[in-house]
Amino acid sequence: MFAAGASPVFAATRTVQSAQVGEIKVTTVSDGYIDFPTGAYTNVDTEVLAGLGDNLRLGANVWIIRSGARNILVDAGSGSFMGDAAPGVGNLNERLHEAGTTAREITDVIVTHMHPDHIGGLLVGGQIAYPNAQFHVSNGEWGFWTSEELLSAAPEPNRSMIMGIQSIATAIKERVTFHQGAYDLGAGVSVEPAPGHTPGHMVVRVSSGGLQFFLLGDAVISQDLQFQHPEAYSAFDAIPDLSVKTRKDLFDKLAADEIAFSATHLAFPGAGYVSKRGAGYVFTAIG
Ligand SMILES: [Zn+2]
Repeated sequence: MFAAGASPVFAATRTVQSAQVGEIKVTTVSDGYIDFPTGAYTNVDTEVLAGLGDNLRLGANVWIIRSGARNILVDAGSGSFMGDAAPGVGNLNERLHEAGTTAREITDVIVTHMHPDHIGGLLVGGQIAYPNAQFHVSNGEWGFWTSEELLSAAPEPNRSMIMGIQSIATAIKERVTFHQGAYDLGAGVSVEPAPGHTPGHMVVRVSSGGLQFFLLGDAVISQDLQFQHPEAYSAFDAIPDLSVKTRKDLFDKLAADEIAFSATHLAFPGAGYVSKRGAGYVFTAIG
C-alpha cells in the first residue's frame, strides 16, 4: 500500500518505539494509558457509541526527537498530576532510559498544548523535571490557560484542573520561549498551529532526507472512533467545530502525501498512516 523505502523505518519494544526519519531519530515512549468514558464523545450517532462499550482506552504517547546535538521532548506526559483519576499514566520518567536518554540530556521541550496529561510531567516534586531544557509554548495557548478570567468563569468541576495548569505555568515561566504561529526549531523540526482541541494546540513536523513524520498531539484522540467518524467531538475540545476541521485537514494532507504520523492518544506505539474511506478515514498502524 505504501511504497517501500519512502517511509521512516520503525522498531519497537513494549514501551518504546523508534522511527528513523532520515538523519533524525524519533523515539515514542508510552507514558501509560487513560480510560475515558465513551459518553464523553458527542456529535456522532448514539448507536455508534453504544457499539464501543462504556470506556475507550487511550494511549499516552510522548516523543523524543534526537537531531544532531538537540534532544527534543514533545510533551511530558501526566507526571503525578492525574493521581487516582488516571492511575495508568505517569510512567515517562522511569522509561526515559529505555529511550536511551536522561532528563538532563533533554535540550528542548515542545508543548503541543497545556492539558495536564501533556504538561503534568514537566514538574517532579514541584521542581522542573528537565533542568537543562528550554520550553516552547504557543502564545495563544499560554494566554488562554493563564488568564484570570478563565479561572473566575470556570464551572466548579473544572477549577482544580485550571489551577493546576496555572501553577505549572508559574513554575516553568522563566524557561519558556513563546511562539506566535508556526515556528521552526531548526534541526528538521517545525511546529504548526492545529487549533480546536485547545485554542493554541500545535502539531510537530519532523523532516529529514526527503522523509516526514508528523506528531499530532491531540488533533485526534480516539483511534476507535475518530478515524471512522472524524466529526466526533470529545468533552475536552475547547472549540469542537474547529477541532473537527483541523482533524480532517490534517488527515486529508497525511493521506494524500502518504505521510507517517503518531498522535498522543492512539494505542502505543501510535504510529501509522491514514487513508480516506467513504465519509471517514481508516488508520493503518505500524509496529
Ligand atoms: Zn491529551
